[in-house]
Amino acid sequence: MESLHEYILAAINDIIIWWAWYLAEISFQLIISVISYIIVCVFLYFLLKKVDSTAWQLPGPPNRLLLVTAHPDDEVMFFGPMIYWIVQRNKSNIHLLCLSQELPDHPKIQWPEEVIAENVLQFIEMYKMDAVVTFDKHGVSRHKNHISLFYAIASLCIEKKVPTYCKLYTLESVNIFRKYTLIFDLPISLLSAPYWYLISYQQRYYIKNAMRAHSSQYLWFRQLYMIFSRYTLINTLHEVNLLDLELDLQFDDDDD
Ligand SMILES: [Zn+2]
Repeated sequence: MESLHEYILAAINDIIIWWAWYLAEISFQLIISVISYIIVCVFLYFLLKKVDSTAWQLPGPPNRLLLVTAHPDDEVMFFGPMIYWIVQRNKSNIHLLCLSQELPDHPKIQWPEEVIAENVLQFIEMYKMDAVVTFDKHGVSRHKNHISLFYAIASLCIEKKVPTYCKLYTLESVNIFRKYTLIFDLPISLLSAPYWYLISYQQRYYIKNAMRAHSSQYLWFRQLYMIFSRYTLINTLHEVNLLDLELDLQFDDDDD
């Protein structure tokens, strides 16, 4: 009995020693991996700052782009890098349609898709917009007003109401870890979306300045957001297409 007890203790001891050694080995590899990843991100950032990235921006470029947002500060908080480059390149006219003037501003209120869709379609046809950009189905922060915009655009696409000259794009929403990693989201961003806009820390000055124009909205937590959010440096976009939408909506139905 005594020997069995000793045997079990010795076995437990062995296991503890083995795990301690294994964790020490792994932690060293982990540190090396993290350092390598940081080096890759910094290298990519400096490389992409130097190269002409027009090839990865919205194709065309569009002549007239309609940016559909929910609130008056959305364009700065989420779409800054894209707007910066569109204005800088001076090849596209950018028009902003912000819907909270007509509809209630509340994170839990889903706006009526038909009303938004009709509004957007009217603008597309009236001004011959050849690109529309808005939020995706997660609306960056899962704000219901943002999400309504996606479903309005999706309904236009599904009902085949969008004129053939016009393409629809959505801003990719990222998870909370990616949202606050600034340039350390760069490798994942480049792999996750076909279109992207990157600005430098120096160019970000213009976006922060634009946010100051929304002085009533520029509370301490938004100031922190403007410092740490990856959306103030990187925008990644996807084109909306019918097949993806139908698959997506089918999965959503199955989930319900
Ligand atoms: Zn908003």
